[in-house]
Amino acid sequence: MSLSLRQQALRKIPKVDEMLSRPEILELLKIHPRQVVVEAIRKGLGRLREEILHREDAFQSAAPPFSFDHLYSLFQKEIELQVQPRLRHVINATGVVIHTNLGRSPLHPSAIEHLIDVSKHYSNLEYNLELGERGSRYAHVEEILCRLSGAESALVVNNNAGAVLLVLNTLAEGKEVIVSRGELVEIGGAFRIPDVMRRSGALLREVGTTNRTHLSDYQKAIGPQTGLLLKVHTSNFRVMGFASEVSLQELVQLGKQFQLPVVDDLGSGCFIDLTQYGLEKEPTVQEMIKTGADAVTFSGDKLLGGPQAGIILGKKKWLDLFKNNPLNRALRIDKLTLAALESTLLLYIDEKKAMEEIPTLRMLSLDTKKLKRKGKRLWKRLSGLTDKGMTIALKEDVSQVGGGALPLQELPTLVVAIKPFGFSVNHLEEKLRKGEPPIISRISKEELILDMRTVIDEEIPLLAVGIKNALNHLSRNDEKFH
Ligand SMILES: *Cc1c(COP(=O)(O)O)cnc(C)c1O
Repeated sequence: MSLSLRQQALRKIPKVDEMLSRPEILELLKIHPRQVVVEAIRKGLGRLREEILHREDAFQSAAPPFSFDHLYSLFQKEIELQVQPRLRHVINATGVVIHTNLGRSPLHPSAIEHLIDVSKHYSNLEYNLELGERGSRYAHVEEILCRLSGAESALVVNNNAGAVLLVLNTLAEGKEVIVSRGELVEIGGAFRIPDVMRRSGALLREVGTTNRTHLSDYQKAIGPQTGLLLKVHTSNFRVMGFASEVSLQELVQLGKQFQLPVVDDLGSGCFIDLTQYGLEKEPTVQEMIKTGADAVTFSGDKLLGGPQAGIILGKKKWLDLFKNNPLNRALRIDKLTLAALESTLLLYIDEKKAMEEIPTLRMLSLDTKKLKRKGKRLWKRLSGLTDKGMTIALKEDVSQVGGGALPLQELPTLVVAIKPFGFSVNHLEEKLRKGEPPIISRISKEELILDMRTVIDEEIPLLAVGIKNALNHLSRNDEKFH
């Protein structure tokens, strides 16, 4: 459409009031609140304006006289959008298993059933059925957590950031916390250890350098102001080369010597030694408890594969203090999370089952044979598209763990790579992202990459339909202009 045609078209866009008097719209007003309809018309007309300005394929619909049917369909779409939830299912084809932006860990079916059951009915959330009196919400998971980890006591809160805040506030408000400079990390979502520490009322005492910190650095910093020795898992990065850090074990010895509590923020936290499954070493929760650390904190939705939660394990005398801190009331875990967490933890009683069934762990341990099978299933459904000006190939690639765990681990994977010729790969990525359901992919070397590791089996048909729709649409536009 030429510039002047566009300008003419823009001037002819009808007014909201004009639309409101149409009989079809009067019908809509009988079904929906006026505010919803008016908003839908306003937005629908805005969309028409966008079409005129940007859509090359919109000759018929975006040129005056505008077809009312087209306008009506725009309004209806806007009404639907207003009542549709914004938070929804997306297909993760990025290959990043613990993807914080995409909701981290999908839950196991037993966790989902449990949270539905507990939320549908009343529950014994804070009621002791044995004694017929008030009980503790934490009691439901404390036993299983202690059993799995070997810790004396346990507490669960809203998330790990909350767990760290609670621990620091309880043990070191107004006191110094000694931390290695190499561990003052920022984790995605602007969680910075120094910032959390400030908010907890503790004073940060940095020791060592970025790449090297020695036991003597901690020792020299200890004084009457010291409240706590803290170790932080560096999560999403590693210091390589000329580097050294003090182990939790050594720190615990030092803490004993000076009668200071020692806490480890483990970040991801896992009960299974992943080296058995061909993955890099990640310290397990049990190993960290065994060092004699006073408290260990970690997330529920990273390697553990459960819901968002912060788990604190350790010595009873400290855990009792955490439980009684009024801040705990503000950070407390809700019943839905608690249900999902309990069911996830119960799966760990049988380690093999946990590895096979917890979605996050299963995706991490998928072998190339299984990945290839998934890739072929998708590829088959897409065959027939290759004559439409693109290549679709199964390729080897690598996926990432994500969630601040195993940052250097490269997981060999299989991807479906789509290389279009007639239109840009960026358009394809956008079209998929804005589809129903949205498909999140990545672009590498002019190809769209769909990593099969994070695509759930049941999603493959949906994925295929989404890709077909996007490709058909884009190649149709392509034909018009070439
Ligand atoms: C992820 C992480 C956190 C924050 O945990 P959330 O559960 O996201 O609140 C804190 N510390 C470390 C080391 C982490 O890796």
